[in-house]
Amino acid sequence: MRVKRYPYHTVWLNGRSINRNRVVFEHKLGRRLLPGEEAHHIDHNSLDDRPGNLTPLMRSEHSIETQEWMKRKRDEGKRRLFHLEIGTRSRVQNE
Ligand SMILES: [Zn+2]
Repeated sequence: MRVKRYPYHTVWLNGRSINRNRVVFEHKLGRRLLPGEEAHHIDHNSLDDRPGNLTPLMRSEHSIETQEWMKRKRDEGKRRLFHLEIGTRSRVQNE
């Protein structure tokens, strides 16, 4: 099964489907997004389109931000795995 990596809510405007985050965002800013500007979700939850969760980022900054966030998430995942291993080992030793 193919899972969409970055889901976005879409809304219909004048017969065209557009990302809801763009609409919320442009309303918050009171202007249209500039060319190359994207709506970034501060908590990285692309389904949370509340105005407070959106901030403007240029496409290049946005991709760097996303890569760094994914790296942080991977590192956190490794640390969790490591702790799990330690926990399992100490439980085994206590038996
Ligand atoms: Zn983003």
